[in-house]
Amino acid sequence: MSSNEYQRANKYAGSAIDMMRQHHVPPYPQFFELLYTYASGVNPHLNSRIDLLLQNDDGTTDVAERLYQEFLKTSDVEERLNHLSEKVFSKIDSVRGAVKKAMSSAESYSGKLVEANEHLTDEIDPNALRALTAQLLEETKVMQSNNRVLEERLQSSKTDIAALQRDLDAVRRESQLDPLTKIYNRKFFDRSIDKAVADAVDTGKPVSIFLLDIDYFKRFNDTFGHQTGDQVLRLVALTLKSMIKGLDIAARYGGEEFAAILPNTSLKGATALAEMVRKAIQSKELLRRSTNEKLGRVTASFGVAEFSPSDNAVSLIERADLCLYAAKRNGRNQVIDEKSDLVADTRAA
Ligand code: GH3
Ligand code: MG
Ligand code: MG
Repeated sequence: MSSNEYQRANKYAGSAIDMMRQHHVPPYPQFFELLYTYASGVNPHLNSRIDLLLQNDDGTTDVAERLYQEFLKTSDVEERLNHLSEKVFSKIDSVRGAVKKAMSSAESYSGKLVEANEHLTDEIDPNALRALTAQLLEETKVMQSNNRVLEERLQSSKTDIAALQRDLDAVRRESQLDPLTKIYNRKFFDRSIDKAVADAVDTGKPVSIFLLDIDYFKRFNDTFGHQTGDQVLRLVALTLKSMIKGLDIAARYGGEEFAAILPNTSLKGATALAEMVRKAIQSKELLRRSTNEKLGRVTASFGVAEFSPSDNAVSLIERADLCLYAAKRNGRNQVIDEKSDLVADTRAA
């Protein structure tokens, strides 16, 4: 490690500890990692989230824990990937072993042929020739049998590798999904919005996003319990997912917040879609599964923004978030886009 690197790491560590003190976040290792990452600035999405939370003075342990889970925690998926990559390495080792064995057996066979050639003189008697041929035949059989073993092992490796490939594909797909709602997770959203913005810059085509936050969800959880709350999250996710199409991406953005990335879609189109999703969510009557008891309805508020040339992914999300905030302030259960006067009021407030 160079002295520069050392100083930089020290600076990040100092800044993380200062922040924990300032915001009364307990100095547990995971929160240190979270704020160290913040200080290093390597994850702009994480930083903008923390900035926003600090503005609202929401720097509680609960929030820090959630951010840690969202951005940094090693998931089961990563553990499974490590396990799979170990399996791949051990498979490669075993194939390499088999090939090495086959090569040394081929070498020894060719040695035997050279040796036999030396014995083949003009005056060799028929008996000696017969013995030599029998010996060579024996060696050839050994060689053939070794080759067969190698072929079988290669064939079985091929089957194993195809199974590993399928496992890897499944793990990759799963690593992009939120375990509770089975729609795309925050990590995948962050990657996709960066890509969608880059594509919009390249092609000059529009891209819009909307953020959706369930209204009074805390109250719902407190009244009916977390498990019923989780069912609502699944229902909202399913509704959202069923209403987008093609290149659109729907993701769980945070606890009870969802997001959609809509390539080739103007602000107007995105607002219309958000309005349809809002109505669809509102129209669903919730039933408690076990008892069929009616639990009422949930509603959600939406903020919509369209990418503009001066944007990056973070500023685009910030604008949608501002609209969402305006929708909340204005009474919830509504869609507000960035052209609305209410957004300017929110900015001024
Ligand atoms: P608002 O209309 O202003 O959005 O109010 P709200 O109650 O929805 O918002 P608030 O941010 O106060 O509360 C969000 C709640 O979402 C708090 C937390 O208990 C709940 N929540 C977050 N993640 C989950 C989850 O995975 N499962 C469940 N059941 N609840 C969650
Ligand atoms: Mg929320
Ligand atoms: Mg909410």
